[in-house]
Amino acid sequence: MTMEQNKNKQLKNNSELRHDPASGNWVVIATARNKRPSEIVEKKEARIVTSIEKCPFEDFEASGNLPILMEERLSGSKEWLVRFIKNKFPALDNRKKAVKKIKIGPYEKINGYGYHEVVVLKEHNKPLSDFSIEEMTVLLQSLQKRYQELAKDKKIKHISIYHNWGPSAGASLYHPHLQMIALPIISSSAKESLDSFYRYWKKNKRCLYCDVINFELQEKKRVIFENERSLVITPYFSREPFELRIYPKEHSPFFEYADVEKIKAVAESLKRALMILKDKLSDPDLNLFIHTTPVYRKDNLQHYHWHIEIIPRVCISAGFEMDTGVEITPMDPDEGAVFLKS
Ligand SMILES: [Zn+2]
Ligand SMILES: [Zn+2]
Repeated sequence: MTMEQNKNKQLKNNSELRHDPASGNWVVIATARNKRPSEIVEKKEARIVTSIEKCPFEDFEASGNLPILMEERLSGSKEWLVRFIKNKFPALDNRKKAVKKIKIGPYEKINGYGYHEVVVLKEHNKPLSDFSIEEMTVLLQSLQKRYQELAKDKKIKHISIYHNWGPSAGASLYHPHLQMIALPIISSSAKESLDSFYRYWKKNKRCLYCDVINFELQEKKRVIFENERSLVITPYFSREPFELRIYPKEHSPFFEYADVEKIKAVAESLKRALMILKDKLSDPDLNLFIHTTPVYRKDNLQHYHWHIEIIPRVCISAGFEMDTGVEITPMDPDEGAVFLKS
């Protein structure tokens, strides 16, 4: 390497620590690790598709997955599109007794009360990224409806809605599905995020994500897709390369109460985001979360801004991340945005 090349390499090695103003986490954008978008994509292994014959979501009765708790369809269609069933191996169960806190020495526990449901999508070979905007709208509306139903239980404080796609994202079954877990507690990450939004609002009299959205729309660098009511960006503080966020533009704390126009716009953004990832990263494993406020004390949570997070599993977190909670991202999100838009 000549001195000039060496100097250029050093100039590129501008690692930065960036702060996520909502979670409070820091990430290291380690450009010194010099991963090009194409290098990250190349490492991916082919997806293993299980056969329809072995799939438990083809015959709900035979696989012991009845009753159907709720189902939705496209208007005018005779076939269901989305079905909600109880998880066969639930993390939490609502047959447990009332939620009671018990002290054991320095520890504390409550019964495993709650709900754990699977949201099955109709077609075995039609992942979420292949959903039409209309189908995506029906899916989001069905999640809103089920959320509102579970939220009626006064013992529930927090409902998590998520989608694992692929084994490295934690999906044990190939058949496309989402999951909902309703908890009798508020997770510490949700609490931290709510506190951050509250502090930001108190100091600035504005919503944190409304400010993020306005800033990103001015900067434009990290905006992947935009329609009238929503947008998709690669976050400035991305924990993983090609991480994406979908925001409704208009301030609103609650996913479950979003009107149909807003849901349609987000459905289009979500479809675009998933299509772009599938196309550019050749169908990566990924996790998707819908973040709304906890069920508990909704009236006091007006400063929150609901959104969707998508994290493709292209890098494996290791000891340092587990130890510190600080993720090392081997690629600048700006560079990721350029690659996804190309
Ligand atoms: Zn199936
Ligand atoms: Zn807002």
